[in-house]
This record gives sequence, structure tokens and C-alpha cells, in this order.
Amino acid sequence: MNKIIIAIDGHSSTGKSTTAKAVAKALGYVYIDTGAMYRAATLIAIRKGLIALAGVAQPDGSTETFTHIDADSLLAALKKSQLTFKYNPDLGYAELFLDGENIEKEIRSLEVANAVSEVAKLPAVRAFLVDLQREMGKAKGVVMDGRDIGTVVFPDAELKIFMTASEQIRAERRFKELQAKDPSVHFADVLANIQHRDHLDSTRIESPLRKAPDAVVIDNSNMTIDEQVQAILNKAQA
Ligand code: C5P
Repeated sequence: MNKIIIAIDGHSSTGKSTTAKAVAKALGYVYIDTGAMYRAATLIAIRKGLIALAGVAQPDGSTETFTHIDADSLLAALKKSQLTFKYNPDLGYAELFLDGENIEKEIRSLEVANAVSEVAKLPAVRAFLVDLQREMGKAKGVVMDGRDIGTVVFPDAELKIFMTASEQIRAERRFKELQAKDPSVHFADVLANIQHRDHLDSTRIESPLRKAPDAVVIDNSNMTIDEQVQAILNKAQA
């Protein structure tokens, strides 16, 4: 069977990566988590002190936080960094390494999650990562998940999926995941992070989150992982 590109886009915490990993495994394809790449860029920015948060007092007495990122320095740092996915046979999928260091744990922290959409807004960062993603997928036989895979990275992908689910359900899923690692996490913060990221991802000027016209929509609010995986495999093998 000819190898194809499967592009999976959608909202945060819709289980895109879990589904994409399982689809890749079933087909013997490579799985590429592009969100991890934007998270890695964010981690680099945090570690190098290129992100500044400024609290600005508002007329109503509240404080609004603005993020400033030194985009030129971040791009220069990215160009010097080595981002590589390495397959972990015990896990059955590839993990992301930054200059030889496994950064999977750090890039999933709430600190990175809170800043990643700001980093992902930067056109130069996107252009750099999109080039890397095209290179990684050019041999086909890949399942790539993200926000702009079917619209920008691989607009000619043979199969495009757009995954969504209700906000509440997505927040509950992410909360359970985060709480297992850090019991002090609050549900309200997780929900707020999801709402904030949805807003930033869909309203940004550069490659906003959009369903490609030819993408198949999967609302998995009431679906199990197995059901979604099977739905995608049926399309891939059709
Ligand atoms: O998929 P994940 O939640 O790990 O992605 C983290 C963030 O990276 C998203 O909220 C989005 O801002 C950004 N992203 C993106 N384009 C992609 C993948 C992720 O802008 N292709």
C-alpha cells in the first residue's frame, strides 16, 4: 500500500497526540508531534531568559500580564539547536530531544503551556519549524499532529483530520493528566489555560487554527480513543 501523509489538526487537549500515536503504530508510520516542537522553542526561550512577563495595572485595579519575546534571539538560538525525535521502543513512539537532552517532561509543564501560544505566534519561529516539519514528512508514511498541518505544512496531505471536543471535557482530560504529576494543580487554571490557548490559536494572524476545507471532523467528546483511532484507520485504508 502506498504510504501517505496523515495530518491531524484540532483544539488543545482533544487527544490528538494519543490518537496520532496509535494510528502511526497501527500503520507502521512515523509520528511527529509538532506541538512538542513549539513547546521546545518555548523552553529555549524560557531557559535563555528571552521571555519577559510584564504586569500592567488596569483602570479597574486588576493587573493584565503582557508577554514580550525577543524573537530575533530566539530564532538565532533555534538555528543553533538540534531538535530530534528519537523512537523509544518501550513507549512505542518518538520523544523529543534538544541537543541530546530528553525534554519530554519539561515541555509538558504548565509554565511552558502558558507561554507556548505566544511563541507560536511568531512568524519567524513558525517558518523555521514548518521547514523542519516538511523535511521530516517528505518521505511520507507519517502521522503529523498540530494546528496547521492540513492547512499550511502539508496542504496536499492525502488524509486530513480535524479533531475537537467540548471545552469542559478537554479541561477535565488535561486536569487528570497534570494532577497525576502535580496534585496542587487547580481545575480552574487548566480550564483557563485551554480557553486562552483556543483563543490565541484561532485568532492569531500567522497560520491560525482552521479546519482545512477537505478535512474530516471528529468530535470526540463522547468517543473512546479506540473509536477515534478506528475511524481514522478506516479512512486511511479506504
Ligand atoms: O499540541 P500542543 O498542545 O502540544 O501544542 C502546544 C501549542 O503549540 C499550541 O497551543 C499552539 O499554540 C502551538 N502549535 C502551533 N502549531 C502547531 C502545533 C502547535 O501553533 N502545528
